Amino acid sequence: MVNFPDDFIKYVSNDEHLGKELLKALDEVAPISIRKNPRKITPNFENNRMIEWCKDAYFLKERPSFTLTPLFHAGTFYPQEAGSMFLDTILRSLDVPTNPVVLDLCAAPGGKSTLIASFLDGRGMLVANEVINQRAKVLRENISKWGYANTIVTNNDPSDFNRLEGFFDLVVVDAPCSGEGMFRKDEHARNEWSLQNVSLCVGRQRRIVADVWNSLKEGGYLIYSTCTFNPHENEENVKWIEENLGGQYIDVSTLNTFVKGRNGVGNYGIPGRTETEGFYIAVIQKTSELGKRVTLGKNANKGLLRIKDTTPLKGWVKLENSSFFSWNNTILDIPTAWEKDYLIVQENLHIIKWGVVVGEHARKGLIPDHDLLMCHQLRENYASVDLQEKEALQYLHGDTFALESNISNGFVQVTHEGESLGWIKNIGNRFNNLYPKEYRIRMNIQ
Ligand code: SAM
Repeated sequence: MVNFPDDFIKYVSNDEHLGKELLKALDEVAPISIRKNPRKITPNFENNRMIEWCKDAYFLKERPSFTLTPLFHAGTFYPQEAGSMFLDTILRSLDVPTNPVVLDLCAAPGGKSTLIASFLDGRGMLVANEVINQRAKVLRENISKWGYANTIVTNNDPSDFNRLEGFFDLVVVDAPCSGEGMFRKDEHARNEWSLQNVSLCVGRQRRIVADVWNSLKEGGYLIYSTCTFNPHENEENVKWIEENLGGQYIDVSTLNTFVKGRNGVGNYGIPGRTETEGFYIAVIQKTSELGKRVTLGKNANKGLLRIKDTTPLKGWVKLENSSFFSWNNTILDIPTAWEKDYLIVQENLHIIKWGVVVGEHARKGLIPDHDLLMCHQLRENYASVDLQEKEALQYLHGDTFALESNISNGFVQVTHEGESLGWIKNIGNRFNNLYPKEYRIRMNIQ
């Protein structure tokens, strides 16, 4: 591993707040942690130590091969850095509406978004956004597999959110940063770091928050986080937001393992004191006044046709509390209670995932989509075949093989330990593997 940059050693050594343990701890092995999806059947993690600042989360004794764990591909758990799970404590301590409208602005690959989705557990709605197109696709996959219908994935620049005036109760900005918290495991982060890069990051972070500020309601909360330790990207940015955008820092009481920021602003997970790679998080309440909340415009519904007769969908998808739209040949399900808000987002942003894809219209009926099967809220009881680990991995690899003869023909869900992995189309002596090509395991599974 390359050495720390000299300027980094100098600033950390002179910074009483960080403590001497930090440099030593940054050379040690990082803890491994996961967060369970409480709405799905997960592998058994009960023999591991629970993480006290996040629901359903554990430190693992050793790193398993996630790729070779079939239930990982079904969105039943998410490997996530433990420090960043402190977001759960913060969310639970804020006074947000029962059904909040939430934006996760810098969301890929989806760690915070899946945590927020579990926190909401079907309440309100979540817009998970990522500006970089390739990363937005990974975000889409993780959100789809986590299985909530009240989530939308967008691929927009922060400035595009300016159009959604006063739309969100809560905005999470997990900002791109100089990544001092990545020094433990990422040599590249050590090489890239410089004081000049820190100031470039500060400028970018301020631009991002300023761009999205208009979309936050007056009285709403901005949760700002980074995985870095220097004051410029953290406490100084919080002060800048308060003074320039019109907000007030909110103190959230923390556990002893987390460390208050400089001058008491924000909370740090600091390696050596907290079991984390490094994390900073602060809450700012918006105090500046706002005009009227964005409303549905004339271009809404463009390309979308409402499905009035839902009879053909019966048995495929739970019909209660859902509205259905057809887009090209695809059937989409959105929560009826949020129809207007979904349409506002559809009208103003570049959508990657809008509700749940139920399937495609075909001459012989519906071709069900993987997205539907992943959605624990909407899926029905389908004909199934449960596979043991070896065959489950073959299925996830995209292979096809002989099945027991008593399995019905047509669309059948493949499960492992009772949890859905994907669809097959059984045609008697063989089956077509419908597991999406882009999700397939590429490594040798022998
Ligand atoms: N929140 C994510 C999670 O928990 O999985 C991690 C987000 S990562 C710290 C920061 C994200 O910001 C990256 O996905 C990156 O692509 C995105 N990003 C980079 N530059 C950006 C910009 N100028 N505006 C908005 N997002 C940006």
